[in-house]
Amino acid sequence: MARIYNFSAGPAVLPEEVLKEAAEEMLDYKGSGMSVMEMSHRSKVYENILNEAEADLRELMNIPDNYKVLFLQGGASSQFAMIPMNLMKNRVADFIVTGQWAKKAYQEAKIYGTANKIASSEDKTFSYIPDCSDLPISENADYVYICENNTIYGTKFKTLPNTKGKTLVADISSCFLSEPVDVTKYGLLYGGVQKNVGPAGVAIVIIREDLITEDTLPGTPTMFKYKIHADNGSLYNTPPAYGIYICGKVFKWLKKLGGLEAMKEINEKKAAVLYNYLDESKLFKGTVVKEDRSLMNVPFVTGDEELDAKFVKEAKAAGFENLKGHRTVGGMRASIYNAMPIAGVEKLVEFMKEFEAKNL
Ligand code: PMP
Repeated sequence: MARIYNFSAGPAVLPEEVLKEAAEEMLDYKGSGMSVMEMSHRSKVYENILNEAEADLRELMNIPDNYKVLFLQGGASSQFAMIPMNLMKNRVADFIVTGQWAKKAYQEAKIYGTANKIASSEDKTFSYIPDCSDLPISENADYVYICENNTIYGTKFKTLPNTKGKTLVADISSCFLSEPVDVTKYGLLYGGVQKNVGPAGVAIVIIREDLITEDTLPGTPTMFKYKIHADNGSLYNTPPAYGIYICGKVFKWLKKLGGLEAMKEINEKKAAVLYNYLDESKLFKGTVVKEDRSLMNVPFVTGDEELDAKFVKEAKAAGFENLKGHRTVGGMRASIYNAMPIAGVEKLVEFMKEFEAKNL
């Protein structure tokens, strides 16, 4: 068996320990005589899996009791619609557009009401996070929306925007569980899990209880109402059962590691290996302003498209997969999520140094 270093932006690398455990339990989950894939989502065994997953996530993120945790389907993209359908009481929301995913959420919200772009970093190809200390927040805004970590461009909000008292809604898909977070600062946080938490197919929504109401926009499908999922403990319909089981294992892996403080330390150390090299390299250069750099997604370029392509090709042959930048931006991107071992980044940097020596 040869596992390669997988720098994919998502679906992405998962902890080897988790995969091994899942493999061991594949045919017979804890004496149930069946795989988790095969069991009723209403069985006692599965109830335990779901409840433990929620309890462990609550512990890891220190989620207060007045927040609900919902395990949903439809990816992060369904939330682009579900959020306005449930939260846009005045039909107004403010958006800080820092990349493609924030832009998509902003465009989707326009279907349901007035979406105001109150800040953007598009003028410089989303290579920075705008100053959000004193934005023109709309007086009647139902919420202010951000994408906290920009998977494609490799930026991250290091300080949350000043929403002037309005509810903050954040897409945390690509920084989920990468460092501690103060849940009380948000009305709603959500993410697709396929980057840092588990297999594609699960979206986790953490929402303050007062935002869960019957009062959704007319025409909101039942499946798109937070209340129906909250009232039914994520079991209104069949949940993405196997995916949640894997998420639960990742939560336990994180707890064993020492929780999110410990994870943050590892992630900072790991990202520094790559960023420090990018800062000194004469061939490669990072594309993001230093103070806004993501710990999870690291885009870089040589400045020469042909050389970029050569690098991606040679890196792949050497066992470093998925280093090609997003199709909309080109260049390279190394996604170094929680489960990427530090050795993977160290070896990548070694390889980059060799490439630099040969191609400068
Ligand atoms: N938000 C962010 C920050 C993302 O990176 C992605 C996917 N890469 C999405 C949303 C969309 O997620 P999904 O494919 O689960 O709809």
